[in-house]
Amino acid sequence: MSEMTNSEFKLLGFIRQKDKNHFVVRVKTQLGNVNSEQLAALSDVARKYGRGYLTFTNRLNIDIPWIMQENLDAARQALEEAGLKVGGTGPTVRPIVACKGTICHNGLVDTQGLGEMLDMRFFGRKLPAKFKIGIAGCQNDCAKAEINDVGFVGQRSSKTRGESGYAAYFGGTFGRDHREGRRAGELLSSDEAVALTERVIEYMERNARPKERLGMLIDRVGWDVFLDAIGLTP
Ligand code: SF4
Repeated sequence: MSEMTNSEFKLLGFIRQKDKNHFVVRVKTQLGNVNSEQLAALSDVARKYGRGYLTFTNRLNIDIPWIMQENLDAARQALEEAGLKVGGTGPTVRPIVACKGTICHNGLVDTQGLGEMLDMRFFGRKLPAKFKIGIAGCQNDCAKAEINDVGFVGQRSSKTRGESGYAAYFGGTFGRDHREGRRAGELLSSDEAVALTERVIEYMERNARPKERLGMLIDRVGWDVFLDAIGLTP
């Protein structure tokens, strides 16, 4: 481990701090949820190997800073024994972000249910570039789903009164290249959203260049070509 590069460490979920002597351990949560046993394990690791505190990322994961390299394996083992995963970085399908639409009084869809389906099926899959998925239960978009590579937002159909489903957005990013995803297709059920995500991920695998995010790929091939390839009507 001592001869690994920063990128190799990062792929394992260990992010070198700017002082170069310590690492942040990135812990994936299940859609932002951690149970009481996991909270205790996180607290123990932060106290034993770090400086007794942790921070939350804007994608609902957890960072434990100030871990020395010689303690990385022990910290990871303690977290894994509590059912937590270390990682969620690099050119992969990143941890899914889903709002609390399942219990929120504004929620039109089961955001946590869809998030679990997507997490089980796609989390960690290697791709040419990182790939983020966000799910929001209504147009308030607390999860900022529209600025993910693929975003799903709960909406009511204007055609069939009362029915709700997921509107799909493609190609969003946040950060240096901020852009909102473009909406396409009809409202989807959870199963349809999973199947559509599979087609988009397979399209990324076949067509994206290294580090080319979905929005960049869509720009290169064209919106209509992309939609046709994933089975949606332009
Ligand atoms: S996006 Fe809507 S459903 Fe989700 S937490 Fe926000 S208000 Fe609630």
